[in-house]
Amino acid sequence: MSYQITGHTKLGGLLGTPVAHSISPMMYNETFRLLGIDYVYLCFDTAQADLGNLVHALRDMQVFGFNLTMPDKERIIEYLDDLSPAARMIGAVNTVKNENGRLIGHNTDGIGYMRSVADHEYDIKSGAMTLLGAGGAASSIAIQAALDGVPALHIVNRKGRSWNNALRLADEINRSTSCHADVTDLADETELRQILSESRLLTNATSIGMAANAGISPIKDSSMLHPELLVSDIIYNPRRTKLMEDAESAGCRTFNGMYMLLYQGEAAFRIWTGQDMPVEAIREKYFS
Ligand code: NDP
Repeated sequence: MSYQITGHTKLGGLLGTPVAHSISPMMYNETFRLLGIDYVYLCFDTAQADLGNLVHALRDMQVFGFNLTMPDKERIIEYLDDLSPAARMIGAVNTVKNENGRLIGHNTDGIGYMRSVADHEYDIKSGAMTLLGAGGAASSIAIQAALDGVPALHIVNRKGRSWNNALRLADEINRSTSCHADVTDLADETELRQILSESRLLTNATSIGMAANAGISPIKDSSMLHPELLVSDIIYNPRRTKLMEDAESAGCRTFNGMYMLLYQGEAAFRIWTGQDMPVEAIREKYFS
């Protein structure tokens, strides 16, 4: 199908910094082309931007919506008109829809992660989950896992910047869902071994193991890993992290963050257009 920008074409895009490396423009523009939707999606590096003025301009330009990446996912909230219930609980937004001039914030990171878990034939209700990290992505995964019915969630973070957010998340989950959530210090190896022995799903949502820190695992003692654990890393660069290597040596199934990226985009696309993304075609072209 041909794809031509016209006088009717609606604009959307990605705000944050850095953004130039993002797969999102390819993923969405190819989808618009395949489905004949008259939208175009660009990246806007917001390093120098006054976010408030930028959002006013986007509203005036009647964009169909936009995504946010670091560092704007929390800052954006004060400029929006409303939030989805999950985005309100998470306290961060990665997708904004323009509904007739009203900007509504959503968060699809957790939805994307949970779909990648389901792809691995794992039922989130079947056992306890240990989640490493309490930053932006971890918050979204924690809330979505609780909303989707995980019976017990162990949130693990160092006693650093995100520690208080870990406590807030556990409190929010215990008040608002039927999941039991608790918080463990990453440095407490005895407790970490105990919660991992009870868990069936381990998720690394810290940045430990990313390309800059490749070769480092958040689980220093790999004897804590056992074959009943499904081990996932939401990092996708590198595709195979040290945690995944250690887990595979311990007999665990593993997967990385590539499909979370695809599926959070699929969920954002549905919010904007009400249509299903042709996931197989996009996966084959950009995610294999
Ligand atoms: P944040 O900065 O919000 O959170 C980072 C988390 O990692 C915090 O819990 C932080 O703890 C912890 N952390 C960082 N360094 C260390 C360390 N040396 N030791 C222990 N803990 C550490 O980042 P995001 O949540 O946005 O992103 C986290 C990761 O997820 C990144 O690798 C990112 O690429 C990936 N990601 C993948 C997505 C996908 O679609 N696959 C989507 C979004 C993110 P503290 O704050 O207390 O220091």
